[in-house]
Amino acid sequence: MDVVRLKAGREKALLRGHPWIYSGAVGDTEIGESGLTPGNTVKIEDASGEFLAWGAYSPESQIRIRVWSRNINDVIDKNFLNNRLSRAVELRKGIIEPSSTSAYRLVHAESDGLPGFIVDRYGDVLVLQCLSCGAEFWRNTLATSLVEITGCERIYERSDADVRSLEGLSPRRGPIIGGDEFDHLIIREEELEFFVDIRKGHKTGFYLDQRLNRSLVRKLAAGKMVLDCFSYTGGFSVSALHGGAERVVSVESSTEALELHRKNLELNSCSKDLNQLLQGDVFKVLRTLRDKGDRFDLIILDPPKFAPTAAHAQRAARGYKDINLLALKLLDSNGLLITFSCSGGIDEALFQKILAGAALDADVDAKILSRLQPGPDHPVALNFPEGSYLKGFLIQV
Ligand code: SAH
Repeated sequence: MDVVRLKAGREKALLRGHPWIYSGAVGDTEIGESGLTPGNTVKIEDASGEFLAWGAYSPESQIRIRVWSRNINDVIDKNFLNNRLSRAVELRKGIIEPSSTSAYRLVHAESDGLPGFIVDRYGDVLVLQCLSCGAEFWRNTLATSLVEITGCERIYERSDADVRSLEGLSPRRGPIIGGDEFDHLIIREEELEFFVDIRKGHKTGFYLDQRLNRSLVRKLAAGKMVLDCFSYTGGFSVSALHGGAERVVSVESSTEALELHRKNLELNSCSKDLNQLLQGDVFKVLRTLRDKGDRFDLIILDPPKFAPTAAHAQRAARGYKDINLLALKLLDSNGLLITFSCSGGIDEALFQKILAGAALDADVDAKILSRLQPGPDHPVALNFPEGSYLKGFLIQV
């Protein structure tokens, strides 16, 4: 067994239940048979040799070890992983009403006790991501267990997220179990349906973390002029139209996303005349709309991650302030702004500050009506604040 001893005093975060051990906390190592190879289970001890936890070793990552368990009696094997997966699946059974959606997050990595491992369910198809050396090491075991636990017979892999490179892992995507017949996958959310491209779409294909917020947009949209920025495949736009929006303008840069957006309009019998699709850069389009004097009642801003880590926070803050300031100026009085940040490097308090600055510069009085987050299929372990990456506000001017 490989043993990793932490430097004196560097066990505090782990004792509070945080699952990451950074490279700088690692002291002496004892290399056993497995040779500290990527993903292998190591025993973690404090500086005096007391047992602390079992974890997965990642030789190239700043996050050198991700903790599996702090119980000395646990053995990290198929049975252990099976238990963690079963708990994650059981949790969703309790919180997801099958009539409300056919797609949701089944496993949310660290927050479900499976660091770096993500599984999204699209009907009877599962899409998984191995984003850490530990998840990569146990990939086949986890996939087999998932089939046993869920009864789903098709699993596709989208381990092609950028963060894999931080773990020294190359991107991988393709079918794992059940062939490659994944064209025209359709999911259902309440009364709406969406095409999902699990092979080439973003993340695992769809932004499942915005499910409840799509529902909110549908409830708020009646009679409104709506602007949906960063509209991807039209999740918010279709929801707004279904909720009775008078007109929707959607802005998106990706040709593939816009193509699927058009198909999603058809799938939901939405009139194309009511939804103007603008291909372009939101930063520029917002300025054009401002110069033309266009006004809206409801604006959605759901940009990509501007700040993956805190190191990028300053530049990202300028980006968030810019688009929010422009959006606030485009709103009619009593207009609503639904604005998100999915940047790990920007927490909710900082995002609120950025928005306050934007409102000040836009010279509008704005108030928060509610705080927005993903649904409970994206749980956040209390001792793992990094799990709450997506934060949003419903703001009225
Ligand atoms: N709101 C979407 C998800 C948005 S993800 C949903 O709920 O489904 C962010 C989207 O912004 C992506 O589709 C990406 O292609 C697009 N994008 C990124 N930068 C952009 C830019 N500068 N202008 C317009 N679109 C952009």
